[in-house]
Amino acid sequence: MSFDVTVIGSGPGGYVAAIRCAQLGLKTALVEKHTTFGGTCLNVGCIPSKALLDSTEHYHNAKHNFAAFGITTGEVGYDWDTMLARKDKVVQDTCNGLEFLLKKNKITTYQGIGSFLDDKTLQVKLEKGTLERIESRHFIIATGSRPTALPFAAFDGKRIISSTEALKLPKPPKELLVIGGGVIGLELGSVYSRLGTQVTVIEYMDGLLPTMDRALGKELQKVLKKQGMQFFLSHKVTSVTVSGRRVAVEARDAKDQPVIFKGDYCLVAVGRAPYTDALDLAKAGVETDKRGFVVVDGHLRTSATNVWAIGDVVGGAMLAHKAEEEGTLVAEQIAGQKPHINYNAIPGVVYTWPEVAGVGQSEEQLKAEGRAYKAGSFPYRALGRARAAGESDGFVKVLADAATDEILGVHMIGARVADMIIEGVIALEYKATAEDLARMSHAHPTFTEAVKEAALAATDKRAIHA
Ligand code: FAD
Ligand code: NAD
Repeated sequence: MSFDVTVIGSGPGGYVAAIRCAQLGLKTALVEKHTTFGGTCLNVGCIPSKALLDSTEHYHNAKHNFAAFGITTGEVGYDWDTMLARKDKVVQDTCNGLEFLLKKNKITTYQGIGSFLDDKTLQVKLEKGTLERIESRHFIIATGSRPTALPFAAFDGKRIISSTEALKLPKPPKELLVIGGGVIGLELGSVYSRLGTQVTVIEYMDGLLPTMDRALGKELQKVLKKQGMQFFLSHKVTSVTVSGRRVAVEARDAKDQPVIFKGDYCLVAVGRAPYTDALDLAKAGVETDKRGFVVVDGHLRTSATNVWAIGDVVGGAMLAHKAEEEGTLVAEQIAGQKPHINYNAIPGVVYTWPEVAGVGQSEEQLKAEGRAYKAGSFPYRALGRARAAGESDGFVKVLADAATDEILGVHMIGARVADMIIEGVIALEYKATAEDLARMSHAHPTFTEAVKEAALAATDKRAIHA
């Protein structure tokens, strides 16, 4: 078979690219090695993790917060198997929905492992072992990433686990050790902590979520500590040892003293690495860098002119919505359009409770650049809506250029900030000033008033309610 475009990998990068190509009239194929479409995000990432976060958040609220709202319940309990079954159903429904979309857009799909024979030909090893040859004018590599293991502790899938196993443990353990206080460690740590597991997070850096504005991780640590999680920052893990059903993590603290942690499982969440196994990139003339990421230019074109690459496999923010934007961009370029991505306006969100979100530059980045900026913050506890909802933890921070007032970054932690961060995205996209944001009417009473107040605080410290 021959196609205009063949996409390898059906995650949010690949499937969006394929659908956009088909919309633009290109004859499109999509190759996926997994038995369902949707990649990491739909199968073992964004969607299942959020399904479990939502189940456990309901449980946590019923157990700890309903009484304060005047709701009486009997003894509140949970059924882990039902939580897992619900998560699986959410995943299945989402994957089925995607399969429908692919059919509707008349995309030819192949279930099998793709390997390049040259820059115009891909061989697909189908599930039954047979080989299919695909000729294509263009290829889009969207093969994603996989969890990074510690050099001295390979994943065994039983006691030393990655996020994939953490999404389906047979039952919530008594003690869970988490190496890495980043997004996965805190989201999946929250799932189990809410169910009564003693969760211990061991982080190499001196704060949680070190890639976001550092004030966010500080505030989140305070709240999660109140919820029962333990944190050991500035700890360098040196070994992970399994003995029977227990696992021991040895680390060195900030004073280089040895510390030993013991638990039932050790979730290693120290980042993800590009996945290009089986692709035979060299045969297509596609180069990778030292860390294995596919090298691309500003248009996401690889070293082979008709081969493009998008999503986690090219590095940058490993986020589903970043992969989606890149999929759209490449499809439109192949169709002769001139699209554009503003990488500075791609938000990052952590779905703990409270939620954490940020877009644009952090205070640390601005300081490192030596840029003169002004900052305005507004605490949730001063918001009427937050008090009514019993959600007083958190704040919104707006950073703006000291001279021009242009918004440079918006960072928030609190209830519903995952949905509110879009205000910051729009502000950055349209180069709004803090004054612009401060002058826009925000409905009362809403959590979004914290954004307006933070913008007021950034412009001449004139927040009204704090
Ligand atoms: P992937 O989604 O990884 O898809 C790549 C696909 O390529 C896979 O299906 C793979 O099977 C296939 N493939 C690989 N090699 C071949 C081959 N040779 N032939 C055929 N097929 C192949 N991001 C967010 O934005 N929000 C979240 O809430 C979020 N939560 C997450 C939670 C967890 C637990 C994890 C692990 C990740 C989460 N992410 C989240 C990150 C997000 O999942 C990734 O950034 C996103 O999936 C990347 O998309 P992609 O298309 O680049 O690759
Ligand atoms: P991460 O980069 O978010 O966090 C890894 C953490 O591990 C960092 O804090 C880092 O300092 C720490 N670390 C690294 N090596 C260590 C060591 N040897 N000992 C102790 N700590 C160490 O990575 P992740 O949590 O594994 O997530 C992987 C990717 O998946 C991320 O890029 C993230 O964007 C994506 N993801 C996104 C979401 C979301 O958008 N809500 C959710 C889950 C995953």
